[in-house]
Amino acid sequence: MTRARPADYPQAAAATLRDTPEVRDAVTAATRTFDTHRRESWAQIDAERWRDWCRDVKDHVLTHLDDLLEQAEVRLVANGATVHWAEGAYDALATLGRIVDAEGVRRVVKAKSMLTEELGVNTFLEGRGVHVRETDLGEYIIQLLGEPPSHIVGPAIHRSVDDCRRLFHRHFGTPLDATPEALAATARQALREEFLAADLGISGCNFLVAETGTLALIENEGNIRLSTSAPRVHVAFVGIEKILPRMVDLSGFLQITARGATGQPIGTYVSLIRGPRGEGESDGPEQVHVVLVDNGRTTLLADDVAWETLRCVRCGACLNICPVYRQTGGHPYGFTYSGPIGAILAPALLGLEEAMPLPFASSLCGACADVCPVRIPIPDLLLHWRARAVEAGLTPLGERVAMRAYAAAAERPGGFSGAGSLLRYVPWKRGGRALPVLGGWSAERDPPEISARPFHKLWREGIE
Ligand code: SF4
Repeated sequence: MTRARPADYPQAAAATLRDTPEVRDAVTAATRTFDTHRRESWAQIDAERWRDWCRDVKDHVLTHLDDLLEQAEVRLVANGATVHWAEGAYDALATLGRIVDAEGVRRVVKAKSMLTEELGVNTFLEGRGVHVRETDLGEYIIQLLGEPPSHIVGPAIHRSVDDCRRLFHRHFGTPLDATPEALAATARQALREEFLAADLGISGCNFLVAETGTLALIENEGNIRLSTSAPRVHVAFVGIEKILPRMVDLSGFLQITARGATGQPIGTYVSLIRGPRGEGESDGPEQVHVVLVDNGRTTLLADDVAWETLRCVRCGACLNICPVYRQTGGHPYGFTYSGPIGAILAPALLGLEEAMPLPFASSLCGACADVCPVRIPIPDLLLHWRARAVEAGLTPLGERVAMRAYAAAAERPGGFSGAGSLLRYVPWKRGGRALPVLGGWSAERDPPEISARPFHKLWREGIE
C-alpha cells in the first residue's frame, strides 16, 4: 500500500468511508476502549497536577535544549555509546548506512518507532538489500500487509481479528478460525528466529535522560528488550525533543505516558539503556549508537506559537478522542503522524504547503486539548496554522472570498442583519438534500430548518 499525500486527504478519507466501512468500526471500537482506560487510570491519580508538572518539565527542556543535549551526549559517551547528530532524514539514514556497511549487517530487527517511520528507515535498508523485520506485533502485522501504521500506539487498530486470521493463514498456514492466542504464538515463534539471526537492532526512544545518558523505552510485548539486546549492534534513533533532565523526571513521564496511551499505570516493560554490554555482563549489544535527530524540530522550536507541539510524548490520547480520526484511522492523512497531533506536526515538519489541508482536518471541538497529558493547546495551534495558510493564499479562492464577505458583514450590525434576511430566501435544500454550495460541509450534512422568525428579531423582541 502506497501512503497517500496530505493533499489527497479529502478523497482518501471519503474512499475509506465508502470502500472499507469496517475500518471505521474497528478504529472507533479500539479508540473508545483506549480512551475509557485512559479516563479510568487518570481517575486513580491527581491527573491535572501531573499534567501541569509534565507541561512545566517539558517547557524547561525546550528552553534549555542545547545544554541538555550536550549533557546527554557527554554522559552517553562516558557510558560507552557512540553519539551521532543528524540534521535531517538524509543525515540520519547516511549514519545508519555507514554503520550497516562497517558491520557487514544483513539482517535487522526493529522495535516500534514512529521516528524511524518518519525517516523512512525500512525503505532505506531494503533498498540496500538488508532484510528488515518489525517485531512489535501490530507493526509485524502491517509489515506483512504492506501498510504503514494507522495509529501512533496501535499501528494495526484498523484491522480486525478476522483480517489477521486470513493474513496468518496465507503466510503460515494457520487455521482460519485460529484464536488470537494461537496467532500471537505463531508470530512469537517466527520473531524469535528473527531476533537470533539479526546483526543489528533498531529502536526509537521514549525519553533520553540527560543526567545519566539513559535511553528509556516503554512497551508491552518484550520485543524492544530483545531488539536492543540480542543483536550485537543497537542503533537508537532519538528525536532531540525527547530529552528529560533527571531520572526523577522519568518516573512521572513513564506513568503519564502509559496512562495516556493505554490506561496502564506503567508499561509492562520499561528498558533503561545506558550503553553497550559491560565487562562480565552476559547479554546486551557490543555497540550502542545513538542518533540524535533534528529533522525540522529546531525550526519548529523557533516558531513563537507552534513550539509547544514539541512537548508531545506520542501517547496517542488525542487520536483516541478525536471524532474525525475515529472515522477513518490514520492512513488518509498521508503523513507518519495522524489525528490532531499529525495535523499540527505536519506543517512544521513537511512545510505548510505540503501539509495542506491537514490543519483543517478537525472540527475544533477541543477534546484533544482536554486529554493531552502535556497540555498542548492543539485547537489553538490548528487555528495558528489555518491563519498562516490563509495568509499564504493556500486556502481555496472561493472560501477566502466568502470569509472576507462574511467578515465585512459581521463587522456592521446593519449589514449582518440584512445579509441574514437575504440568506433566509436562498433555497439551501432541493429534494430533501443540501445544495453543494458549502462544498464538503454540505456533502455530509443537511442544513437546519430556517426558523419562522430570525434570531436578531427574537433578540430585539426579547427571547422567552
Ligand atoms: S499531542 Fe498530546 S495527546 Fe496527542 S500524542 Fe502528543 S502528548 Fe499525546
